[in-house]
Amino acid sequence: MTSLEFQSPSDSLTPLMRQYNAIKAQNPDTVLLYRMGDFYEMFNEDAKIASKVLGLTLTARNHGGAEDVPLAGFPYHAIDRYANRLVKAGYKIAICEQTEDPKNAKGVVKRDIVEIITAGTATEDNFIEEKSNNFIVGVVSASDALGIAICDLSTGLFEAEQIPKDMLGEELVRIDPAEILLAGEEDNPLSADVKNVLPQALVSRYDAWKFEHDIADKYLCAHFGVATLSGFGFSAPGAPAAAVCAAGGLLAYLKEQKKNDLRHIVALSPRALSSFADLDPSTIRNLELLRPMHADDEDGTLLWVLDKTSTAMGARLLRTWITHPLRDIGAISERLDCVAWLKADVFVKGEAELFLRQIADIERLIGRVAYERANARDAAALAKSLAVFPRIVKLLSAAPSLSLVEAGTSLEGFDPLVESVLTTIVESPPLSIREGGLIKTGVSAELDEVRSATVNGKKWIASLQESERSRTGISSLRVGYNRVFGYYIEVSKANLGSVPENYIRKQTLVNGERFITPELKDMEAKILGADEKCAALEYDLFVALRSTIAAQCAAIQKAARAIALLDVYLSLAKAATEYGYCRPVLAESADLAIREGRHPVVERMLAAGDQFVPNDTDCRALDSQILLITGPNMAGKSTYLRQNALIALMAQMGSFVPAASAQIGVVDKFYTRVGASDRLARGQSTFLVEMIEVANILNNATDKSLVLLDEVGRGTSTFDGISIAWAVAEYLHEAQGRRPRTFFATHYHELTELALLFPRIKNLHIKVKEWNDKIIFLRKIDQGSCDHSYGIQVARLAGVPKAVIIRAKEILANLENMEFSPDHKPILARHREAKKSAREAERFDVGVQLNMIDSMKGEIIQQLLDLDLNQLTPLDALNLLAELKKRAGEIPE
Ligand code: ADP
Repeated sequence: MTSLEFQSPSDSLTPLMRQYNAIKAQNPDTVLLYRMGDFYEMFNEDAKIASKVLGLTLTARNHGGAEDVPLAGFPYHAIDRYANRLVKAGYKIAICEQTEDPKNAKGVVKRDIVEIITAGTATEDNFIEEKSNNFIVGVVSASDALGIAICDLSTGLFEAEQIPKDMLGEELVRIDPAEILLAGEEDNPLSADVKNVLPQALVSRYDAWKFEHDIADKYLCAHFGVATLSGFGFSAPGAPAAAVCAAGGLLAYLKEQKKNDLRHIVALSPRALSSFADLDPSTIRNLELLRPMHADDEDGTLLWVLDKTSTAMGARLLRTWITHPLRDIGAISERLDCVAWLKADVFVKGEAELFLRQIADIERLIGRVAYERANARDAAALAKSLAVFPRIVKLLSAAPSLSLVEAGTSLEGFDPLVESVLTTIVESPPLSIREGGLIKTGVSAELDEVRSATVNGKKWIASLQESERSRTGISSLRVGYNRVFGYYIEVSKANLGSVPENYIRKQTLVNGERFITPELKDMEAKILGADEKCAALEYDLFVALRSTIAAQCAAIQKAARAIALLDVYLSLAKAATEYGYCRPVLAESADLAIREGRHPVVERMLAAGDQFVPNDTDCRALDSQILLITGPNMAGKSTYLRQNALIALMAQMGSFVPAASAQIGVVDKFYTRVGASDRLARGQSTFLVEMIEVANILNNATDKSLVLLDEVGRGTSTFDGISIAWAVAEYLHEAQGRRPRTFFATHYHELTELALLFPRIKNLHIKVKEWNDKIIFLRKIDQGSCDHSYGIQVARLAGVPKAVIIRAKEILANLENMEFSPDHKPILARHREAKKSAREAERFDVGVQLNMIDSMKGEIIQQLLDLDLNQLTPLDALNLLAELKKRAGEIPE
């Protein structure tokens, strides 16, 4: 027996492959980018993924095993581009670098993972959007609540909260994370919920024990260097324990992924969910706050209209504000005061804009500094931005709100830092911090000395050409440099005879030869040694400077928030001026009174020459709580519904609104059920989705909520649809404590009869005109119901044959005559009159059961009656008898 027969498969692998397999085994769920010299290589399944996602050629090589190993790779300098594409495609990538100089390696070069990049943990500019946060959210279940922690690694934002379980969907849609981290394994019951709400987000998992309260608490305390989390508002009795679990687990995960201390995460802030109005997920989608419903309309969102920010920080904050309308009138008014101030003071507005435009994304720059990723350009950009602060401080000292004045003070005190950065770093520093050329003269005596040695050496070499020419008499002699041979003296073929003795031949060319001399090589060693020394000194000086900046991380983050705040106010002031918005008046009522309201987005999207027709709204808890809006398709019903919600939402985020005047009773929850949103891909029929949303509204809306219902019931048959829509309207009118302001658009003309029975339901319609066989949409809202639905007119316009049109009119007239019962009550309401008593309502289920029994019996009888005995064989007869007996046995007693 030979020793070979005892070899296990791994023994036969090359040492390199064994190293690869060991590293891969520690990170099985990643695509491992394995550094080999100037390339990143991927093996096995990873190579196949890379070839598919990145379009790289898949090759195979034998590494000692039984089979060839699939292989794909790319040059190291293309890392950003390729890594970005893998992350965008939803993969986690592990970057494995050579951790020792191959020259010093004994055997296989040492390698290690230096970073794992996922959608939610990417921080570099080319991975993430400038104008939105890149969030990772940790979610953990704790008895009857959920702990949620949110982090944007690129900015250091870190917040946590505890929420009721049924708020998960709403919170996730509102936060819109790129990655969601759950505790434990695949079987975590939250997995399905999370996938259902955000199918695009990457779901990652991490050790469950890291989310346990005591461990999480200790971990966070150690990170922040505090004895308790009470300073952050998380350790007081009754504080949200689940929030700490989520935050501790998330931070541990991030540090492990990034192999970094994450010193730029300087605080854990409580996320005050209760201070924001609820926005259910369908409201965020349907009101097109951040994303258009149809991906091809790139614009068309509220964010698009309002975003006139000058900095990336402002753009990100505005985005957050749009999905976080406030509830507290005091806080809203303070924001409105700031917008009003900037809107009114043209000088301040102009100056503020001028200054803001000079400010880079300092929030992410300081992140890079603390993360030890910043280069000299980043440091210089940061310092130049901080240098603008004093002028902003001056502007803000006159601000009308305490929070803006305070924001101003957080911009003070950076002068020494600015000074030290700008006096250290050269005007246009290079990208690399390892190759020198970034530190100014006069910063370090040692550096200056080494530099002057280089300069002198280079001068000596520069003069060498002249001196050698005159010494040898070869006028074409040339001194040059290349990376392989260093400095050399080049002499053409014709002059080789005049080459002096001390020249040493180094290289033969087609037209001449290259030489060196011992003096030239001595000088070269001095220069190159000095260059290397300079680079090393400059690197050290820069790293020291970067640490000095990093020490001010918390203060710079605070300043960045102040800049963002000013930028958002300025953006809202500019939108208000440009588009003619008014300042809304907020009240603790349940009314909504808007004069000449407009849809902020539709009015911006109209074709040139078209005018948006403004409309009034008078929705009052006591007499017009439910507005039922009828009108033909395309009349403008949806637009009217949405504009009212958008105006209220804009007001509560602190913006002026598109109206002549607006009085808004603060909305606690916004609900929307608009159109037929199709989630068939997730196994839910359109109608089921519609009913889930309706159920959510009926179960959770309060007297202070605002509800938009657009064509409820459309997803089922007409009779079902009308019945459901009717019952929903009745419920919203009658249920104690659940009487939200409601805008109900419908093409079911029958529903207008609701207003005959319920005092707080009012009919509105959108006026249209028939003229020369055409329908003209006037877009004007008016009292009362639409006289008819114009469906038949549209059919006529479409060229449907005249006979069909005439017959349709006849049938319509018949149907309309049946609308009222003989005692002139709307037919739809009759059932209600008959079933008023609670006892009858309780019996409803029994009634359904009885109906079912009757129908089962009826089917059996009908089958017997339909039988043709002459056609039946004895065997068929026996089988049939057996079947009927079986079915009779299934009928409940
Ligand atoms: P409906 O819901 O009644 O079918 P929409 O609200 O979708 O109608 O409106 C159809 C189109 O009419 C909109 O896309 C918009 O271009 C235009 N429109 C709606 N309301 C107005 C208005 N008040 N002024 C001008 N154009 C409007």
